Amino acid sequence: MSVPSPSPAGAAALAEQALAQVIADGAAAAALARRALVLADGVPHEQALAHAVLALIAFREGTLEDGQAALDAAVACAGAEPPPRLAWLIEHDRAMALRRRGELARAAELLGALHERSKAARPAVDRYLTIAALGIVVGMEGDNDASLDRFHEALATARESGVPSLVVNALNNLGSLQSDLYNLEDALGLLQECLAGALALGSRRQIIYAAGNLVQCLCHMGRPAEALAIAREQLIARIRSDDLPALQRDEEIAHVLLDNGLLDEAEARLGGVVHVDAMSNELATSRVWLLARILLARGRAGEALALCRARQALREGDESTVAIDRVNLTRVAAQAAAAVGDHELAYRLQCEAFATHELLLGRAARARYLSLQIRHRVQQAESERDLARGLAARLEALNASLREQVAENERLQERLRAQALEDALTGLHNRRYLQDAGAALVALAQRQGEPLTAVLVDLDHFKHVNDRHGHAAGDQVLQAFARLARGALRASDIVCRSGGEEFVLLLPGADAGQARVRLERLLESFRTLVFDGAGARFCCTFSAGVATARPGDGLERLLQRADAALYAAKGAGRARVVEASKESIET
Ligand code: GH3
Ligand code: MG
Ligand code: MG
Repeated sequence: MSVPSPSPAGAAALAEQALAQVIADGAAAAALARRALVLADGVPHEQALAHAVLALIAFREGTLEDGQAALDAAVACAGAEPPPRLAWLIEHDRAMALRRRGELARAAELLGALHERSKAARPAVDRYLTIAALGIVVGMEGDNDASLDRFHEALATARESGVPSLVVNALNNLGSLQSDLYNLEDALGLLQECLAGALALGSRRQIIYAAGNLVQCLCHMGRPAEALAIAREQLIARIRSDDLPALQRDEEIAHVLLDNGLLDEAEARLGGVVHVDAMSNELATSRVWLLARILLARGRAGEALALCRARQALREGDESTVAIDRVNLTRVAAQAAAAVGDHELAYRLQCEAFATHELLLGRAARARYLSLQIRHRVQQAESERDLARGLAARLEALNASLREQVAENERLQERLRAQALEDALTGLHNRRYLQDAGAALVALAQRQGEPLTAVLVDLDHFKHVNDRHGHAAGDQVLQAFARLARGALRASDIVCRSGGEEFVLLLPGADAGQARVRLERLLESFRTLVFDGAGARFCCTFSAGVATARPGDGLERLLQRADAALYAAKGAGRARVVEASKESIET
């Protein structure tokens, strides 16, 4: 990238140009800032500005020591009353120093205060640098929601600034976060626009960042051929082995090569060395599972398994690894375990991978909703600016529609949450809901000294129903029971399908006797229902076990006692309701 010649305005203008270049090309920005420093000789505030820009560049890509030295020089030249621009940059540099030292909470606090203070008054470039840095820092602290919010705002600010390198940077930040959150659809669009922008700018660094993220996103989406074409053209052809570590993309490249079946080339990329880097844990984890995949493909399953297991042990309980890497590590480990014949371990690992993947999908859905909401808000803010002059009535209408939109989003989110807690066949709550809400309900009843009774219901000879009348008829019985039970009980009672043909009812405020009466009535209604299945009409019954919470009972203990009563009901001939016996308290 060429360095523009100095403008007649001198040092301050040069420093200004340097600041606008910081993101796209650190080296060019540093050259500009150094020339500004020479020109500023004898003008302390201009010297301070140049030092502060150099500090910013060093904190971004140089050593902490260089950054601190430049910052100290800036502070010394700035004196007691620096102009607002200089004061902002020095504070921003301080926050960067904190971030580099790992003092994330303090960095976030400082950046947040800077952002609040200067939202309207500062030039867009300054606002962009602060808000983007804030997004990164809160993300490093693990607050993905806040990070998403900040990066959206940063993108809007970058577009407003009209500086293309800022837009590319903003797209990259937001796109790679969406990709990490597994919101791949949103990530893909952002990263494609990002790469196109970086190519138009010709900024090598931004091209490599964008292409690396895009390649990874395409791999996650199962589009390896497209990913390979981009990797060859934009990464393999561009990155030199003597580039800084920040520009190396060995893992991304090896990943796409492997996904395209290019085993030898992938192995050569990784060089067979496992770097365990505390700072970039997710890279290290991806390197581990990639190497394990190669070992596995070479028939060295035992080594692959050992490698994965060692990594898992090292990262036990550590949530900071990017979740998709955890899923991949666990999946490869499961394949390796199966290949060495340890099927029990393979099964366990597969379940674990599945559970983490589920978590990831939940997170992706959330990210998509939040993004939607934030986009609406940003649009709203823009409309507000345009309408500000005297259009109060229209503004109010917009506000109302935004509120409606937010409310709609909340309803959608509520529905999403409900779906995760609902049994699809019967519409009753599921076991997961029971675990969460049931435990809370038991604890509440205990605290308030109110009675609470649990009932376990199991349909009788249900296997026979299925065998004789077909699975669809069985499903109808389950749905009919659910409808009947829900209608017969109070709104405050919890009715769950805990599995198969088993249900759990929690009746706050009812003692065992009252619960028993209600269940006997329910049984009477249920047994009179006539079902149609495979040409024959039939009826059904259920057995139920009833237990009332005793002081100190948790949900699990309470359910155990109800289960013992259910067992007794089955043993006594089914189609009946049995209360837990006093003796069973001690079990
Ligand atoms: P018991 O009276 O001792 O409870 O006998 P049972 O036949 O009800 O008990 P068992 O546990 O042997 O059988 C339960 C049956 O429930 C087996 C399974 O096929 C059936 N089942 C589980 N979930 C569903 C479902 O969603 N739909 C249908 N139609 N059947 C189901
Ligand atoms: Mg059963
Ligand atoms: Mg049964």
